[in-house]
Amino acid sequence: MCCNMEKAAKLIVFSAPSGSGKSTIIQYLMQQGLPLEFSISATSRQPRGTEKDGVEYYFLTPEEFRKRIGQGDFLEYEEVYTDRFYGTLKSEIERIGALGKVCVFDVDVKGGLNIKKMYGDRALTIFIMPPSVEALRERLEHRGTDSQDVIEQRLQKAEYEMSFAPQYDTVIVNDELHIAQRDALAAVREFLAR
Ligand code: ADP
Ligand code: 5GP
Repeated sequence: MCCNMEKAAKLIVFSAPSGSGKSTIIQYLMQQGLPLEFSISATSRQPRGTEKDGVEYYFLTPEEFRKRIGQGDFLEYEEVYTDRFYGTLKSEIERIGALGKVCVFDVDVKGGLNIKKMYGDRALTIFIMPPSVEALRERLEHRGTDSQDVIEQRLQKAEYEMSFAPQYDTVIVNDELHIAQRDALAAVREFLAR
């Protein structure tokens, strides 16, 4: 669901099925000395692994999330999985704009395409494609941060999410991680130089 358009210089949006390696690639890009700042989303899901409030996400209760929707605090938000909400806070765009940096988003396919619609050429959208759904399963199981139920729910959604890839500006296959990181860095550098 889209809300108002907020001002920002340039934005980079990453989307991918869960387990594709999107967070790994984003973390790599954030360490390359580029003027990038990660947009910390809000979510109503529980923290997993070592995740901390205000670092990977702002963790809200479902009631808090609904209240923030009512207050018009989100640029966009989606119920990505049943009863699990995720959204971009307008305050994040303002925070990053004030730093004079480029916003980096990790959002689902609907959120990603909504942001592209709002920002047009000022947004670069990158889809991280897994080599196969079987590889996704192995990565999610190996990551060890989700229950088997949650893993199944994420895998069921993967093919649907992959069908959105052609609508992204760039598609990067993450088979060999170092090649995907190199390709992502090249796409981001080219966009920043525009
Ligand atoms: P996402 O953010 O897309 O859900 P992650 O970045 O958390 O995915 O990656 C999922 C798991 O797969 C992590 O354990 C990560 O270390 C691993 N991983 C990432 N890229 C690769 C790759 N190219 N080959 C094998 N494992 C990978
Ligand atoms: P995870 O639970 O694995 O961290 O994220 C699940 C999904 O929610 C991923 O596809 C991720 O990109 C998406 N997501 C995270 N934050 C946001 C957001 O602010 N908006 C939208 N639309 N999706 C988000």
